[in-house]
Amino acid sequence: MRVREERVLADRRLAKSGGQLEELLAACWETTVDPGPYAFGDKPIDWAAVLQGDRFFTLLNIRALTYGPDYGFSVSCRNCRARIEWEVDLTKLPVRPLSSESRAAFMAGNRFETTLPDAGRRVWFKLLTGDDERKLPALQRAAPDRLLSLVLAYRVLEIDGVDPKDKRAFLEDLTLRDADFLVDEFDRVDCGVDTTIEVECPECREVQDVDLPFDSAFFLPGRERTARRKARSASSPT
Ligand SMILES: [Zn+2]
Repeated sequence: MRVREERVLADRRLAKSGGQLEELLAACWETTVDPGPYAFGDKPIDWAAVLQGDRFFTLLNIRALTYGPDYGFSVSCRNCRARIEWEVDLTKLPVRPLSSESRAAFMAGNRFETTLPDAGRRVWFKLLTGDDERKLPALQRAAPDRLLSLVLAYRVLEIDGVDPKDKRAFLEDLTLRDADFLVDEFDRVDCGVDTTIEVECPECREVQDVDLPFDSAFFLPGRERTARRKARSASSPT
C-alpha cells in the first residue's frame, strides 16, 4: 500500500457500499503470476469473482507487507471488562488451502454437493466470492431475525426434489441439526484463514477467544495508535 491508498480507505461512500476492500485489492494488484482456479489469464484480477478466502488472505498479506507482520489491537475482557492489548503475527495465522476436490468443483461452476443427514436429501451449494461478500450484508440488515435461513437460502443452489420456488420454505423447515451440518459443510470445503485468536486478560487471567478485529484501523494503524493513546491518557490520572 502506498500513501494514495489512504483515499480508498477514507472514502465513506465506498465503505458503505462494501466496495472499499475491492478497491484496495485492485489498487495494490500489480501482476498475476498464476491465476489458480480463476479465468483471468494475464488480465487484471476481477476481485468480485475471487473466493472470500483468497481475498482475505490477500488483504492480510497486503497489511503484513505494508506495516510488517505484527498487528496490535485491543479488546475488552468479557469477564472483567479490562482492556486487553494484544499482538498477533499475521503471517502465522492458520491457513486452510482449497483442496483439489474443491478446486475442481469451483472451476466446474462453483457447485458443491452434500447430503443432509436428517432430511436425507442431496443439496448443492456454492462458495462465497467477493460479489457475495458485497451483497450479503445488505440482505442481512434487511432480515436480522432470520439470518440463518437467509444465509442458507443464499448459498444453497438446489435441493433434490424441491422446486426452486419452495427452496426458502424447505430451508425454514430444516432441523437445526441439518442446518448446522450444512454450515459445517460450507466451511469444510472452503479455503480460508482462521482468525480466532486466544487472548489472556492481564487483570483476571481469563483466557478467551476473540475474532481478529478487521476494520479501517487494520489498514491505517496510525489512526488506531492515536485513538489508543487518547484512550490511555483519558483513563490515567494526570
Ligand atoms: Zn479480565
